[in-house]
Parts: sequence; structure tokens; C-alpha cells
Amino acid sequence: MHFNGTIWRPPYEAGSLLLQVTAGCTHHACKFCTLYDDLPFRFRMSPMSEIEADLQEAQLLTMGPLERISARLQGLPPQERLRRAFLVGANPFVLHPRKLEAIAGRIRQYFPTIESIGCFARVTDVAQKSGEELLALGRLGYDGITIGVETGDDSALAFMNKGYAARDVILQASRLDEARIGYNFFYLAGISGAGHGVEGAVRSAEVFNETRPRLIGSSMLTVFPQSALYREIQQGNWSEEDELEKLAELRALLAHLTIETRFVTDGASNLIQVRGSLPRDREKLVLSCDGRFQVEVAYNADFSFKLKCLQEVVGKLEPNETGILRMTRADNVVNFIPYGH
Ligand code: SF4
Repeated sequence: MHFNGTIWRPPYEAGSLLLQVTAGCTHHACKFCTLYDDLPFRFRMSPMSEIEADLQEAQLLTMGPLERISARLQGLPPQERLRRAFLVGANPFVLHPRKLEAIAGRIRQYFPTIESIGCFARVTDVAQKSGEELLALGRLGYDGITIGVETGDDSALAFMNKGYAARDVILQASRLDEARIGYNFFYLAGISGAGHGVEGAVRSAEVFNETRPRLIGSSMLTVFPQSALYREIQQGNWSEEDELEKLAELRALLAHLTIETRFVTDGASNLIQVRGSLPRDREKLVLSCDGRFQVEVAYNADFSFKLKCLQEVVGKLEPNETGILRMTRADNVVNFIPYGH
């Protein structure tokens, strides 16, 4: 397979066929970003011959007779049919619709079972396409694209040089809605800078509430020494939020989101891992963000009842007590397990 540099994909694309159709980023200018710095170029489109060679290799690796025999001899379960492809690179959605159509055609030729195709996209990539082109891409199976929106805070977007404003996020998300192309957002806690985290989160929630992301995946900003943002810090132009402020920011975001969506903090940069569906799991997620408690509640429980029980337990604890609040479905009793036990 042709892969250049580090390959980045969302955690939820782990089961997808990863196919390189671009490498690097057309924008390559966000101050905090070092993701594609290990490439000797800014952006490259893969030639069709390379994409086709990778599809042939992937087909052989997943469906070839020798691989099937080898799996059987090793007692491994039969390879599941691939249902989704994820095009790697920072923004393959920038490609011309004709190229995206050709790629979808080749994928189907080699993997007829693939139902949908995802990729990372920039807000500006969506803006470049007409409504008809987006509709056609949706019909070709492009769906569940992941947009690194990062924030709805205009001053942070401008300072970080993201190349779009909050109103563009709302506009382009509505165009994806019209084309029936589903999308997920990445949020970056810490992007607004010290003293502005909560304010940035509230603005972001206001923007996201005007859109319909299937999922919001949040990560925490990590500043690397080779980034432009690091130089801004050295020059005294910007200060980092500490981890507690990032938690307060996350909490504010969750408290102000009113849309139905999944919310996850799956990436390795996160201080805490939370996962749930909004608005149903809001209180559980907010409690977890306080950092005081890790809350373990069955997803399919009567949530309002469980929340009431949890709040009763929390009310009886000393303010400095921290630990795990565990409520199993069987007994509806909250067990408090202090950290360190
Ligand atoms: S658009 Fe994404 S990949 Fe490109 S520079 Fe910005 S954060 Fe990095």
C-alpha cells in the first residue's frame, strides 16, 4: 500500500478500508498543527494508477484465496466484508468532484460490498462545491465525513489561521444537510487560550446548535515546539489554558449544546474519556468533566432515575472526595469507589 508519512484517522474509522488518495493538507497553515510536518511536501494527490494498485493489494489481502486458506489454518474467523472506506490525507474532499466520482467507482469495482466512503474535509472544501455536485457525491456514497471545525469562536479561528469563520461552518453544514451527506465535527478544547476557554465553548455550542453533526469528537490542544503556536507563546502573544480550564471548557460546551448528537473524547490527548448521546446523557457527561468523578452508568438505563440517585450520593460526599460513581443496572444502587482503592 502507498502510505506517506503518519496516517491519521478518526478512532471510529478503525474498521474502514484506509485508502490514500491525497497526502498532506492544502491549507497547511493552522498555527497549532504539526500533523503533516513529516512529509517532504505540503499536499499531493495520488495518481489513479497508485490508488488502483492499492485497491488490488487490499483486495488480495482481504479476499484472496491464499489469505482465506491461511486464516482457516490459523483458526482465525473469516474476514468480515468491508462496508466502508476512509480516504486518508488531511482533506481529500478538496478533490474535484470528477476525481471523487472516479475514486468511488474504483472502490466499488474492487469492493462491491462497500456502502459508504468517509474522509476528512475542510469547511472550505465543501464551499468549493455546487449544490448539484454535493448531491451527486452523496449519491455516490460519500457520507460521515469528518470536519476539523475545532471551535465556533471567531477570534480563535482567526488567530489560529483556520481559514474560515463560524458563519461558514453553519452555512456549509446546512449545504451538507441539503445534500444528505452526514458529517462529524472535531472540537479542540484549549483553542481559545487562557482565560477564554468557557467563553469559546459557549460560542461553539451556539454555532454547533445551528448544525446537525452526527458526532462531536473533542480533543485537547497539545502545543508542540515545532508549531507556529509555540513561537507565538514564546513571543508572549498567546497563553495556554491549563488542564482545569480545558475541563471547564468541555463542561461548558456540554452544558450549552442543545442538539441531538453523540459526544466523545476518544483521542489520546484527552485528560478524561467521556462518551454519550446528547441530550440524554448530558448530566452524566457534565459530572465526568468536573474531574471529581468518573461516572459509570448503563446506557440503556432509566437515566433520569439514575441521575437522581447519583445526585443524592454526590450531595452526601465531602467536597474534596473524588472517585468512581458506579451504578449497575441490576441493583440501581450507586457504589462510590474513592480513587486509589
Ligand atoms: S486544516 Fe487540519 S491538517 Fe490542515 S493545517 Fe489545519 S489542522 Fe492541520
